[in-house]
Amino acid sequence: MSKEKDTKKELHLCVETVSFMLKIVCKEKPQLIVLYVLRIFADIMEKVQDVLLPKFIIDELVLVLSGADVSQHMKSAAFYVVFTILLQLLKNVIKNITFQWENVLAEWFDEYIDLQMADHAMRMDYEHTENPKALEVLNKAKEGMSWYSGGVIGVLGNFYTVISNVIVMLGVITVIALTCPLLIPVQLLALVIIVYFGLKNKQIDVESFLRLAKVNRMFTYIFWEMSDYKYGKDIRLYGSKEMMGRKARGLSDEMCGAWREQAERQRVNSWGIDIVNSFRDGISYFYIGFLALTKRISIGDFSMCIAAASSLYWSLYNIVNGFMDLSRRCNYAHNYLEFLSYPEAMVKGDKTVVDDTHEIRFSHVSFKYPRSEKYVLRDINLTIKSGQHLAVVGLNGAGKTTMIKLLCRLYDVTEGEILIDGINIKEYSQEEYRKLFAVVFQDFQLFAFPLKDNVILDQEEDEKKLWSILAQVGLKEDVKKLAEKENTLIFKSYDENGVELSGGQQQKLAIARALYRNAPIVILDEPTAALDPVAEYEIYKQFNALVGGKTAIYISHRLSSCKFCDRIAVFAGETIAEYGTHEELVGKTDGIYAEMFAAQAQYYVEAQV
Ligand code: ADP
Repeated sequence: MSKEKDTKKELHLCVETVSFMLKIVCKEKPQLIVLYVLRIFADIMEKVQDVLLPKFIIDELVLVLSGADVSQHMKSAAFYVVFTILLQLLKNVIKNITFQWENVLAEWFDEYIDLQMADHAMRMDYEHTENPKALEVLNKAKEGMSWYSGGVIGVLGNFYTVISNVIVMLGVITVIALTCPLLIPVQLLALVIIVYFGLKNKQIDVESFLRLAKVNRMFTYIFWEMSDYKYGKDIRLYGSKEMMGRKARGLSDEMCGAWREQAERQRVNSWGIDIVNSFRDGISYFYIGFLALTKRISIGDFSMCIAAASSLYWSLYNIVNGFMDLSRRCNYAHNYLEFLSYPEAMVKGDKTVVDDTHEIRFSHVSFKYPRSEKYVLRDINLTIKSGQHLAVVGLNGAGKTTMIKLLCRLYDVTEGEILIDGINIKEYSQEEYRKLFAVVFQDFQLFAFPLKDNVILDQEEDEKKLWSILAQVGLKEDVKKLAEKENTLIFKSYDENGVELSGGQQQKLAIARALYRNAPIVILDEPTAALDPVAEYEIYKQFNALVGGKTAIYISHRLSSCKFCDRIAVFAGETIAEYGTHEELVGKTDGIYAEMFAAQAQYYVEAQV
């Protein structure tokens, strides 16, 4: 019963995956269907050439040998020969063209799927990036759609194999049924036994694969670590090359051992297949020979039956094997469909944000991270007027970054609401809403692209603006010195001429990116941690001047950097413990801000900064 259920499920999965892919093909590249139709014609031509035409040629020649009219029968024989040659030529041309064409389409579909996947991943709720279940679905979709299933062409190519073999099988069965019908049960019986041995071998394949997968992962990890230049320092300085080499050799031995064992276990089944094949051929020859000798079929029919028997066997074999392979591929590729339909938790609004000036209001906002019971923020009430510069301070883990993530709607609040211009941010279209912000997070990311692309991203390119911003963040002179100036690649990931920027330079570049975006609300979430206090103070001061009348939020644990802000919010005990101007807060006896400021001022005095 459960096996029946499994088969039903597998069939359903196959139907769903194949129809999904056919839909993509019809929408994006219908020429693939034309390609497969052409190939079916080529396959049919091949069978006509292998099975039917030799019969006609042989029958004509036998007639000539047995004394019939030479000129008439030789003419017919010559006609069949020429027809065979032309058919073969046409078939080969079609096959060659369609194979080349298919390779190009395979590349196209691989890229298409990668882009669709990246696009969908970017649209998914941000919280999914930390959700192990969602990440597993994403990884399975990636692997399933590339390696394991062969992607769109891998699955549809397999589907084509099944269909084309069914067509060929129907044709061949008709020929056999009319001339030597007993061949059908012989081929079927042989196939059943061979599939049995084949399945046993496949089971051994799966067991070996599972055993090898772990060893392979470790081997690949060591191999990449040894060849990744980023690890080069540690590997050289700690002399770990030998140790890693030893580990790699050990793993390699283990892999060879597993392959050997697999070959030994499969040997008996392979012998079984060879023996059944020999019996199948022997019985077929005996039976068809008997029909020919007793003059029930012609010599031409004899040749046709031999070819048809072999064709029937192979088409049946290809259908069974092709279907099993299709089911395996669909099983993997279906992960992609599951990824595309992964449920979204966030409400998606459609309102657009119109004005340039915006008032932000947190109203009784409380928040706990998904899958966590602990509240990180409780009952936050805060209004940031348009053009106001707010500093957010507090100890590590006080919830400052979380507050920014909520404002940018990377997460939704657990309780309360965040309003922009009096409207709950959930009601805005996410894409439109995010255009309001230029944020530099502590863990900002630079890409291994040209430097200017890291600043401009998807904004309009403006060289003058780019250089002016690079000058403002203090990077202009550094960039001018680079081999290819603003076009120099960042990192050496795929170009040895790429540049490795210092921590400080990277942070300046991230700030340049925020400035280039020219959004109405700018946020700096301690992207200056790698800078010394003086450099940070300078950057914040300069940034504050550059931001001008825009709304700005600065997070820093160095209070000196916040002095120039209009208001300061001190986060402590999951909420805003103090709020006011620098002067108000610094003058508060027993105040958290006053205490922190005094402690840091002391440090600066001691350090003589
Ligand atoms: P701050 O920016 O003030 O240093 P954060 O907002 O980064 O503090 O973190 C506040 C609290 O939330 C910390 O206890 C931290 O461990 C927790 N936290 C931060 N990010 C996550 C997350 N993605 N999942 C679960 N807890 C988190």
